[in-house]
Amino acid sequence: MRLILLGPPGAGKGTQAKHLQDRYGIAQISTGEMLRAEVAAGSPVGHEAKAVMESGRLVSDDIIIRMLGHRVEQPDAAKGFILDGFPRTVPQAEALERLLAEKCMHLDAVIELRVDDAVLVARISGRFTCNNCGAGYHDTFKPTARAGVCDVCGGHEFIRRADDTKETVAARLDAYHRQTAPLLPYYASRGILRAVDGMADIDEVARQTQMVLSGLRTDI
Ligand code: AMP
Repeated sequence: MRLILLGPPGAGKGTQAKHLQDRYGIAQISTGEMLRAEVAAGSPVGHEAKAVMESGRLVSDDIIIRMLGHRVEQPDAAKGFILDGFPRTVPQAEALERLLAEKCMHLDAVIELRVDDAVLVARISGRFTCNNCGAGYHDTFKPTARAGVCDVCGGHEFIRRADDTKETVAARLDAYHRQTAPLLPYYASRGILRAVDGMADIDEVARQTQMVLSGLRTDI
């Protein structure tokens, strides 16, 4: 199964992608996570991407398409994948279409997580993750059960993304509406776009996503 999770920053793409990865055993591919790893490693791509990411703009299509091309070649993506944060522009979507066509593959569905902008700002500005196991939390909506201790692994160190500030969120939302939202009619015209209510709680979004996927004819 090959899926795209599409939606603005803070819509819950990462959370739902992890859920689908566990359920179906297919790879979660997050271009944002890949870029953060490049930044942390101090690689040439990381150097080029860092300032762009911190300003809330999009990294160039060339870099992203090359990175994604290598990633889908990895063995863990052979059974299928969930793309989280890619594509974000029409040229990226076109490049993906070419890449899949070369491999005689196709996308099964594009799932749009619909969330109002006002909700996104509150969601993004309070989120943090455990530095040890990656479990995600939120100051208001999903705090840890014991202050300063990860519910999942007992870790004590937490991290916040450098671009999860109120100022950067506005730029990221602007980039979404201008550059990424045109992908909605793009995929609707191909008959593979499905929407779920991203404002619902995490389990309900997972349930709705599940309903969409159960209607697909795939092997997984
Ligand atoms: P994310 O973790 O998906 O919210 O991505 C964080 C940041 O990485 C974005 O705000 C962009 O600067 C950059 N980024 C991630 N994926 C892409 C992409 N497909 N195209 C361009 N920039 C991206």
